[in-house]
Amino acid sequence: MYLMKCSAEEGFSRGELNRYGNIELSPSAGVLNYGQGLFEGLKAFRKEDGRGLLLFRPEENAMRMRMGAERMCMPSPSVELFIDAVKQTILANKRWVPPPGKGALYVRPLLLGTGAVLGLAPSPEYTFLIYASPVGNYFKEGLAPIHLLIRDGVHRATRGGAGDVKTIANYAPVLKAQREAKAKGFTEILFLDSVNQRYLEEASSCNIFLVKGDVISTPATRGTILAGVTRKSMIHMARSHGYQVEERLVSVDELADADEVFCTGTAVVVAPVGSITYKNKRFQYKTGPETIGQRLYTTLTGIQMGLLPDDMGWTVEID
Ligand SMILES: *Cc1c(COP(=O)(O)O)cnc(C)c1O
Repeated sequence: MYLMKCSAEEGFSRGELNRYGNIELSPSAGVLNYGQGLFEGLKAFRKEDGRGLLLFRPEENAMRMRMGAERMCMPSPSVELFIDAVKQTILANKRWVPPPGKGALYVRPLLLGTGAVLGLAPSPEYTFLIYASPVGNYFKEGLAPIHLLIRDGVHRATRGGAGDVKTIANYAPVLKAQREAKAKGFTEILFLDSVNQRYLEEASSCNIFLVKGDVISTPATRGTILAGVTRKSMIHMARSHGYQVEERLVSVDELADADEVFCTGTAVVVAPVGSITYKNKRFQYKTGPETIGQRLYTTLTGIQMGLLPDDMGWTVEID
């Protein structure tokens, strides 16, 4: 794992690679007491030739961490430092990158308020840490359809809150609803906006798209939705495939007549949604190889693994 410390006065000092292991924290560390922390997630793929490694748009994650850090009153590494640290971590863990097509090395950067602070205030010291783990498919179903549940009165984010920031504080509050949904056989919760309780937002760790004819719609990011790198890439790819893509308010009423629904995120890539249950009604959607979601999945993973030409310059080769 990669570790770099930062104090308010001196900024980030040179980071270093250490063996993966526990870290020591003051019981009054800002992150432990007040949740001052951010995370990121990106994947490294082994190219088809088995040798080269590819990263997908790491500068997007670096910039998102900088924006999040600003929101959470934390200093953050520069885009260059972030990418360099990610590369170093991957190279040090090269033997753990799965063979082509078998998965990826998931890279998890953390920015934590590790300095001691008793009263509520920004931490005096920060730690930027990166660890990694080989992964297969995120949902155990793989490319099998996932099943979402919408619940009344359960929300992930509120206006003026931090739903658009990848802060650690946004995830523990959804665990209870997630566990209850899983116990009833659903894969995940799909959240509605907390004001009107009517507009789709996202699932707890992925964005959502609805397909109706040749039009693809996704909720606009207006402060309560995490702007995913996969979401942004899907919008671009879908448009260049000739689909009309709308970023707008998407009402829960539209679930009744969508042809197809899919979720996107680094971990899930593109997960086909087989059904969404809302107020005891179950809406079913088309899934399988003939769907638009599946076609876009094939293109996206093809670019990520170096099998298709990368016209947008999205991949970064590591060696
Ligand atoms: C990380 C995350 C996503 C997906 O973002 P990507 O950059 O595509 O991985 C979507 N929603 C939430 C809440 C997330 O935490």
